[in-house]
Amino acid sequence: SGPKKEDLQRMMELMDGFKASKALFTASKMCVFDLLQSRPGLEAEQIAQEIKASLKGTQCLLEACVSLGLLRSKEQTSHKPMYENTDLATRFLLSDAPFSLHGYIQHCNSTVWPLFSHLESAVQEGTNQHDKAFGKKSKDMFQDTVYYDREVKLRFMKAMHSIAKVTGKAVATAFDLSSFKTVCDIGGCTGAMAYEFTEAHPGLSVTVFDLPAVVDMSEHFTPQHREHRVSFVAGDFFKDDLPKADLYILARILHDWPDEKVDILLKRISDACRPGCAVLIAETMLDGLRPHSTLQSLNMLAQAEGKERTQRQYVDMMSTHGFGDTRFVQTGNFLDAFISIKL
Ligand code: SAM
Repeated sequence: SGPKKEDLQRMMELMDGFKASKALFTASKMCVFDLLQSRPGLEAEQIAQEIKASLKGTQCLLEACVSLGLLRSKEQTSHKPMYENTDLATRFLLSDAPFSLHGYIQHCNSTVWPLFSHLESAVQEGTNQHDKAFGKKSKDMFQDTVYYDREVKLRFMKAMHSIAKVTGKAVATAFDLSSFKTVCDIGGCTGAMAYEFTEAHPGLSVTVFDLPAVVDMSEHFTPQHREHRVSFVAGDFFKDDLPKADLYILARILHDWPDEKVDILLKRISDACRPGCAVLIAETMLDGLRPHSTLQSLNMLAQAEGKERTQRQYVDMMSTHGFGDTRFVQTGNFLDAFISIKL
C-alpha cells in the first residue's frame, strides 16, 4: 500500500515550515498587516503599489498569507479579491498591537534566519554562527554581535520587548509573590517584564539590571503611564555588584549561557540572597521535548552560547547554590516559570 495521506500531510508541513515562516516575516517586514488594518479591503494591485512591490509577487504573498490564516480574501463581482487581516493578524502582527510580535518577527527575519542557514555548521561545531552569518566573532555574544551597532541593538531590544509583553503577565502571576517587596530583573532589557510585575503586584518595586548599552536605550520603551516602581541600573552581571532584592528574576537569561557561566551567575545571585529570598526563572522547559522548546534550544545553539534545559537540570543547578522548595508552573504561554527559595 502507498503512503498514508496523513503522513504525507505531516511531511509536507515539515518541509514547508521554513517557507511559511519566511512568508510571514516578509509580509510583516513589508507592513502588509499594518496597511490592511488602516485600509481593509484593498485589492492586490493597490497593496502592491503601497508596499512598492511587483503585482505578481504581491499576489503570491497575499495568497500565501490567506492560506496560512493571516489574511482573509473576499471575492468581488470583478473577480478581483480584496484582502483584510484575520483576528490572529490583528492581535499579533500589527506593529502597535498590545501583544505585537512584530519586533520578534523582525529579529527572526534579520538575525535568526541567517544564523539558521548555518545550522549544519552549528551542529557540527557546537557553537553559534555569528562569524559565518555576519562576519562577527563573538567573545561575548551580546557585546560583540548585538550591541556593536545601534540599529541591530534596537531591533534586538524590540524583539525581547515583544515576547516579554506577551508572556509577562503569565510569568508575573504564576506564583504568590506577596511575601516579596523588592525585585531585581537580571538582564531585564527594556523593562517590559518589570512593568508586568509591578502591574500584577502593587506591593512590588523592580530594579532592571542590564548592560549599560541597553539601559542607555530603555527610555525608548517606557510605557505611556510611567510606573515609578520600576528603575534601571547598568552593570555586568558577571562582574558588578547586583542590586539587593528579595526576589531575582532570570527571564530568558540562563538559556543564553553554558553551564559554567550559569554557575558563575547563580553563585553571584546566591551570595546576594538571604534565606527566604527567591529566584524566579522564566524559560521554555525542555521537558516533554515539545517542538517550541527543542527548536528554541537549536536557536540558542545557533545564536548564543547556551541551550534550553529541563526542570530537573534547573532544580539541580539551584540546589547546588543553596536553593530549594522549588515550584514549577507550565503557563501555556511562550515561557514556563519556576521559583526556588534560598534555604
Ligand atoms: N530578560 C529579558 C526578557 O526576557 O525579555 C531579556 C532576555 S535577553 C535574551 C538577555 C538579556 O541579558 C539582554 O537584555 C542582555 O542585554 C542581558 N545581558 C547579557 N549579558 C549581560 C551581562 N553580562 N550583564 C547584564 N546583562 C546582560
